[in-house]
Amino acid sequence: MPGPKEILLAEPRGFCAGVDRAIEIVERAIAKFGRPIYVRHEIVHNTYVVNELKDKGAIFIEDLDDVPAGATLVFSAHGVSKAVQHEAERRGFRIFDATCPLVTKVHVEVAKLNREGFEFIMIGHKGHPEVEGTMGQLNSGIHLVEDVEDVGRIQPTQTEKLAVVTQTTLSVDDTVGILRAVKARFPSVREPKQQDICYATQNRQDAVKLLSPQVDLVIVVGSPTSSNSNRLREVAIKLGTASYMVDNADELQAEWFAGKTRVGLTAGASAPEILVQQVIDRIKALGAIAIRKLDGIEETIKFPLPKGLKMDGETGAPIDHLR
Ligand code: SF4
Repeated sequence: MPGPKEILLAEPRGFCAGVDRAIEIVERAIAKFGRPIYVRHEIVHNTYVVNELKDKGAIFIEDLDDVPAGATLVFSAHGVSKAVQHEAERRGFRIFDATCPLVTKVHVEVAKLNREGFEFIMIGHKGHPEVEGTMGQLNSGIHLVEDVEDVGRIQPTQTEKLAVVTQTTLSVDDTVGILRAVKARFPSVREPKQQDICYATQNRQDAVKLLSPQVDLVIVVGSPTSSNSNRLREVAIKLGTASYMVDNADELQAEWFAGKTRVGLTAGASAPEILVQQVIDRIKALGAIAIRKLDGIEETIKFPLPKGLKMDGETGAPIDHLR
């Protein structure tokens, strides 16, 4: 059966500044303090990244009871609740916080508005660690909505001081609809000054919107737990383009490509470029002979590392890590 002739690459795709920083924090902590380093939750939601860091000396845990006294502990890029943060401090671990600064920004906003007497509506996915971390900034007064129906169900104790916050990795388009429903029910609600959905999520979804109409199929490289990767697949499907998400090249199925001339390829913010290259090689083996990179925004944002992880003779250059 005829296979694809051309691969179109979305730009930007793959690692964002928050993921880059989180991985570098774990690698530097191992280099500086020796193995093992404990990491609460998957540092970022990608199987390959987690396995590589396990090989280098990271131990991933969910429960602080699994961290021995005196150990070094890293919080994942998704952030943690106040309860987890305080308990880790109480136990005296050496802590490095790899929470993405754009998630921390939401935490800071929640704390500030809480002091001013606000209650919150959080738009996000139940059970996602970022949502648990943001909702866990307060003991009460944050109401989670996952969809438009939830907006009608929540019961804030007052409506004069109500603010919206969102998970950083949502569908930009779905969030607009939910926000519209929130404003219809609570007209005086305070919206975030700037979208909480981060630049990386926005840029990768915009790139898929540009890519999808030009191809017969979109392959997203990302792990099933990765929120922003799942959203990329949904964006392509909503635009009427068939799409599959794969954790690695072995998951590609030849029949997906039957009769498809052009294949689009992108990767979630936690998926390393090496996996994209392996997927390219596999699609080439099915017959693709041309690769074209689409135009897109060039991302130059870089977040500083926490104090205490600078190396002797630091030049500022990133150390070799999982790119
Ligand atoms: Fe930060 Fe956005 Fe990357 Fe999440 S996807 S780590 S919020 S930059």
